[in-house]
Amino acid sequence: MGGSNAALGLLMAQVFHRASGRAWRLRQASLNLWERWVAELQSLGHPLQLNRGLLLLAANPDELARQQALCEARQAMGLPFELWGPAQLAELTPGLPAAALGGLWSAADGQIDPQPLLAALLHEARRLGARILGRRVQALNPISSGGWRLQLDRGEPLRCSTVVVCAGHGAAELLEPQGHPLPMAPVLGQAVELALEPSDAAGGWQGAWPAAVVWEGINLVPRPGGRLWLGATLEPGLNADAAALQSMADLNGHAPPWLTRATVLSRWQGLRVQPLERPAPWLEVLAPGLLMAGCHYRNGLLLAPATATWIAEALEAD
Ligand SMILES: Cc1cc2nc3c(=O)[nH]c(=O)nc-3n(C[C@H](O)[C@H](O)[C@H](O)COP(=O)(O)OP(=O)(O)OC[C@H]3O[C@@H](n4cnc5c(N)ncnc54)[C@H](O)[C@@H]3O)c2cc1C
Repeated sequence: MGGSNAALGLLMAQVFHRASGRAWRLRQASLNLWERWVAELQSLGHPLQLNRGLLLLAANPDELARQQALCEARQAMGLPFELWGPAQLAELTPGLPAAALGGLWSAADGQIDPQPLLAALLHEARRLGARILGRRVQALNPISSGGWRLQLDRGEPLRCSTVVVCAGHGAAELLEPQGHPLPMAPVLGQAVELALEPSDAAGGWQGAWPAAVVWEGINLVPRPGGRLWLGATLEPGLNADAAALQSMADLNGHAPPWLTRATVLSRWQGLRVQPLERPAPWLEVLAPGLLMAGCHYRNGLLLAPATATWIAEALEAD
């Protein structure tokens, strides 16, 4: 159960609570690269869209105060942030949770649909010569003359001069036998796609909501045809809990009537991998020719370009 196919594609770079350090730099580099990568993929004929903007709602006075401070700090950096008051929020249809005290609008953050994005990246990787084997790696062993032998679930072992382990929760199983302990924890996330009642979705989302909306960490992503993605739960462990899904679908008791009337079209789940004892993501050269690039926790889609850059630089330096 991977994470990337389950992601909602939110790019939360500028709304990050700090404005310095590694996590901030990786987010900024990634957001800039996504802009370039999406433009490049579009020019190659892939129908992708970087949907700009995120609206974070304040559910309580503490959150409102934090948003006000963040807005001031980001505006001082020249970034396009605004505070939206209850009157401005009340103009949006369908209506937002009535308890929202205000909103923080970040025009430069955004969202990309992960599925067409992953398909486009895979297509271009193949075009540039990548071979996709689609096999499970069962074990990884050093070769005495240099390089690594990968035992696959079927077929001949694969000999590689360099291995980059991007195996989500499967990384520990491969690397721990090689003497590289990887303390990490899975955090399951569930999401749903909803269809609004035709009367609630009149006119579609265009011009109604400016972009995806975030309420108490729950993302509401408008989709074409009066649909909505809602996600994701934060459930430590590997097992999905129906009560967590229900609570999210109900926006923790604040769902507007149109949301409770909506029909569930599909539901899915995926794993995030949280590194323990160090911040996400885990980018490390573990041994000559052996790189670990994973444990992105909640922001792996956002951080993919910065991760790719780190891998490219590590390979060049090897
Ligand atoms: C519901 C949900 C919503 C999310 N929303 C967002 C979001 O809005 N924005 C954002 O930035 N991030 C989001 N994330 C987080 C993001 O999805 C992850 O951080 C990211 O996908 C991690 O990517 P990855 O490539 O490291 O791991 P994965 O996507 O999990 O990929 C790991 C791959 O390795 C494969 N694998 C494992 N073991 C082996 C093995 N032994 N041999 C071969 N292959 C193996 C797995 O099958 C899998 O395909 C979300 C996550 C979830 C679950």
